[in-house]
Amino acid sequence: MIVNNINDLKAWKKQCPKKADYKINVLVCNGTSCMSSDSEMIAKMIEKELEKRSIEAEIRIIKTGCFGFCGQGPIIKIEPDDITYVQVKVEDVNDIVDSHLVHRTLVERLLYKEPNEKDQIKDGSGMKFYKKQMRIALRNCGEIDPENIEDYIVNDGYLALAKVLEEYSPEDVISIIKKSSLRGRGGGGFPTGLKWELTRKVKSDQKYIVCNADEGDPGAFMDRSILEGDPHSILEAMMIAGYAIGANHGLIYIRAEYGVATERLRKAIAAAKKAGLIGENIFGTEFSFDIEIKLGAGAFVCGEETALIHSMEGLRGEPTKKPPFPSEAGYRNKPTSVNNVETFANIPAIIINGPEWFSSIGTKSSKGTKVFALAGQIRNNGLVEVPMGTTFNEIVYEIGGGHPEGKEIKAIQIGGPSGGVITKEFFDMEIDYDSLQSKGAMMGSGGMIIMDEDTDMVQVAKFYLDFTQDESCGKCTPCRIGTKRMYEILERLVNMEGSPEDLNKLKVLGENIKSTSLCGLGQTAPNPVLSTMKYFKEEYEAYAYRTKKRAYSIDPNLCVGCTKCARNCPVSCISGSVREVHIIDESKCIACGACYEACPVNAIIKP
Ligand code: SF4
Ligand code: SF4
Ligand code: SF4
Repeated sequence: MIVNNINDLKAWKKQCPKKADYKINVLVCNGTSCMSSDSEMIAKMIEKELEKRSIEAEIRIIKTGCFGFCGQGPIIKIEPDDITYVQVKVEDVNDIVDSHLVHRTLVERLLYKEPNEKDQIKDGSGMKFYKKQMRIALRNCGEIDPENIEDYIVNDGYLALAKVLEEYSPEDVISIIKKSSLRGRGGGGFPTGLKWELTRKVKSDQKYIVCNADEGDPGAFMDRSILEGDPHSILEAMMIAGYAIGANHGLIYIRAEYGVATERLRKAIAAAKKAGLIGENIFGTEFSFDIEIKLGAGAFVCGEETALIHSMEGLRGEPTKKPPFPSEAGYRNKPTSVNNVETFANIPAIIINGPEWFSSIGTKSSKGTKVFALAGQIRNNGLVEVPMGTTFNEIVYEIGGGHPEGKEIKAIQIGGPSGGVITKEFFDMEIDYDSLQSKGAMMGSGGMIIMDEDTDMVQVAKFYLDFTQDESCGKCTPCRIGTKRMYEILERLVNMEGSPEDLNKLKVLGENIKSTSLCGLGQTAPNPVLSTMKYFKEEYEAYAYRTKKRAYSIDPNLCVGCTKCARNCPVSCISGSVREVHIIDESKCIACGACYEACPVNAIIKP
């Protein structure tokens, strides 16, 4: 089908196969996480079993993007029955086909059960994990086949672009996005409409739209999931942005490790080109747009706009001083608007539903929803999308299900390696850009690492600083040398070789690095140290004054003498005979935790 105008698009939508055309739709998650647990194989096997029974024409298998509840994957949803099966394995295929698809009987053992509750839950909407969620950016993930453009068209795909080209001037589009109050979801939260306006105002024969898909925060994978589950929405949004700023070329900068997302993007671009939705005179208008993919090597600093642009130009991925901002002189020195994947994912929904709808969601200063990646010491890990203003308590306890073993959660690292910690006193705080900043943290791309009462916050800060100092591009001294010196001090402290003066040195160095580094990486790298020092001063002091107990020990009342700890200890400092209480020589223990992990009866006591 070649789309020459909005009526062609509407006619195509009518002709596209819909879920209602099938007796049953079997939606199998084919996001990277579930694929690593054989979901692709599961989908293939279901297909084969249907063929064997000659019922493949009435049942459609849809290989979707991520459902978000990654801890329960692979997930299969059956529509219109509204049944969700979790943790499905290859061995379960026959049961699903025979019992459910042929005889319409539930496979009860694959239904989800809330912890400590006896009733099984049949549908996703009944799960606490989904109850408080609101899916805008993730709206099509887990709903459509991302490799089938017709699935996107059925869900109003490319309708926002058609509306924009037929009804609005570029200034109207900018005004809609400004009115929606959408802020950039990749880091600092800069207003998207304003960014587009600034780029539009610069006169130039050539401008560019860049999609930043260089998701660098360890633990964050929302951009990857959107690209894997709904690639056309990003292409559509880039074209809307291109029309608004006066650009006819788009570039997607994506890390090469994101193989599935890149492949789906390639297929989506090819399908959109074939349909005339990318190319010359889109919807029969004067507007033309082309999109290309640029692979990045996965450097954290390339999430910074200027470094990303240099990397795309074939130069070293190093930031440069602003101004000039990319909106004035970006890719190939031409005006360029760089927006991240999640920001783009909101655009078609804003155009279709209106800016008032979007700005009615969220808090006074932060509108819409935010996708968070929940990881660490939490029962339900995965991707959650909630309205801005949702509290940490709601995310951690209601959606995330709290700690898997019921331990106390003491802090959340938010905003990735350059974010900060939020302590439990602030868990009832409404999350938005400004509330996080007021506590020394930041939204970043939305990674949330949950840490329990056993977590050593000095070690956490050291871990993050190790990452950022390694990722520093080395261009400016405060970041290149300063973060190394900070790391050395932390290392000294945790090795019990530090002193109280080190605490002051850490603070002064951290503040200097923040105020004198060239780019966001250096300006935020000390955050994990400074925020943990602020909220967990006593943990730093225990190291600085060398009062911290470092060795593990064994509870003699619990030990059953299984010898597992001794067999796992790398420095052989555990003694004891079979079926006798074991003892740790605390002077030799290097606090590696191997015994803690190995003990089957939780007899090992952490320092
Ligand atoms: S702050 Fe760090 S990452 Fe940024 S330019 Fe300077 S050295 Fe490079
Ligand atoms: S923490 Fe490591 S070094 Fe210490 S006793 Fe356990 S296994 Fe051995
Ligand atoms: S692993 Fe646990 S139960 Fe076994 S000997 Fe060590 S402390 Fe005792």
